[in-house]
Amino acid sequence: MYYVSTRDSARRVTASEAIVEGLSRDGGLYLPESIPQLLVDDLIAMIPLPYPERAARVMKLFLDEFSMQELLGYAKKAYAAPQKFDTPACAPVVRLDSATYIQELWHGPTCAFKDMALQMLPYLLTASMQKTGEQKTVCILVATSGDTGKAALEGFRDVPGTKILVFYPDGGVSDIQKLQMVTQEGRNVGVAAVRGNFDDAQSGVKRIFSDETLRRTLAERGFVLSSANSINWGRVLPQIAYYVSAYCDLLAAGAVKAGKPVNICVPTGNFGNILAAWYAKHMGVPVKTLICASNENDVLTEFIRTGVYNSRRPFYQTASPSMDILISSNLERLLRLLSGSDEAVRGYMRQLGETGSYRVDEKLHRAIAAEFAAGSCTDREGAEQISRRFSRDGYLLDTHTAIAMAVLEQYRAETNDAVPTVVASTASPFKFCASVLRAIGQTEPVAGTAVIDQLARVCGTPAPRPLAELAGKPVRFCRVVERSCLADAVTEFLR
Ligand SMILES: *Cc1c(COP(=O)(O)O)cnc(C)c1O
Repeated sequence: MYYVSTRDSARRVTASEAIVEGLSRDGGLYLPESIPQLLVDDLIAMIPLPYPERAARVMKLFLDEFSMQELLGYAKKAYAAPQKFDTPACAPVVRLDSATYIQELWHGPTCAFKDMALQMLPYLLTASMQKTGEQKTVCILVATSGDTGKAALEGFRDVPGTKILVFYPDGGVSDIQKLQMVTQEGRNVGVAAVRGNFDDAQSGVKRIFSDETLRRTLAERGFVLSSANSINWGRVLPQIAYYVSAYCDLLAAGAVKAGKPVNICVPTGNFGNILAAWYAKHMGVPVKTLICASNENDVLTEFIRTGVYNSRRPFYQTASPSMDILISSNLERLLRLLSGSDEAVRGYMRQLGETGSYRVDEKLHRAIAAEFAAGSCTDREGAEQISRRFSRDGYLLDTHTAIAMAVLEQYRAETNDAVPTVVASTASPFKFCASVLRAIGQTEPVAGTAVIDQLARVCGTPAPRPLAELAGKPVRFCRVVERSCLADAVTEFLR
């Protein structure tokens, strides 16, 4: 199977080339030329399999240069419990009520769903380098809104043949998220804050990727750049697997009959996670509606409802920082998939670059609206969800998952849709202790890492070990760079 750039269908590469490159040189994103199919019987056959085997089977369908044995080997290491994940189910589905299921995607080493992909990506990337004959050291550049950075650092730490440099928005991530990153261990890692927001960091990194002079300089020093953001296909692919796995679990639990549909509701930022759900649907997982949930940065809600993407709007820092995004990179993949036209995508992306907005044509908007519902809510509505679900169901939501729950409630009120829904739970509540504590009525969260113990006491559940162990780790990185100086930071890091 070949992969093509969203902006140029003639730009055709193998899976391993797509994974090594990350972002296509024309600025486009790679996607597979076709979508492999799973029959209902294939899904039923996966029910008895442990998570790593389910994941390997799904990935194999997209990666014909990799053997099943290779992929299974990677999956067993990436998803090992208890070494990496604190439960062998890896992405367990929890029943909240008869129509609402939560898929907990945060049982990995950094307590956010990013681990599901970023524990796997280093194996895919280093193997892809071998397959493509790339001998240089690969330097992973990451722009993070909070969780990707830590998950990528943890995934790539001390992986031979790689270095990793992470940029996060100064003041734009939670205290725990920041602490997780600046205390990162490993000999091949670097972390810097950027003066600006996530979009500034992401645009800065994208500019570096298209800077041919810089690439040449780095190549002379023996380095090649790649990306661990969800613009890299190697990030999206492992995420498809857990939606397939969720359906298997629902079948096993008798929550749905084989072939009957579910909805999937995803707290969305860069559109990577929900795009993976779209792929699972188009591979054959019975999905009726994909519900795209946003916080006050509601650019995607407006887009899905009206067909107008307008990034020129106020940027809000919210209690769900990993969704504070106005330019959702992976939407470009959906535009290509549903329009079928690289020329159309080039046009929209040119307009986005020049004017900050675009309107898709009527036909494309209809295609999007047929598959996606969208909604947004405020921090306060999210906090109400956290409070209500905790007191009523005894379930503690994080601030991102709470946005999804609130939007799901709106959706149900508007549509009377009773299809069972899987809500992607993207982070442990312990990553956002202060907001979660305030939501459940503790007006005075304590300072520093003691807030983790405070939340554990109040909710009566121990904190995940990687977070409990943060206290007392030395800070290794405290640099802040101007947003125009990211390239300098890279050349310095790779000296
Ligand atoms: C990254 C992240 C999101 C957004 O996911 P996208 O794939 O960027 O849409 C939502 N919640 C949490 C906790 C995250 O870390």
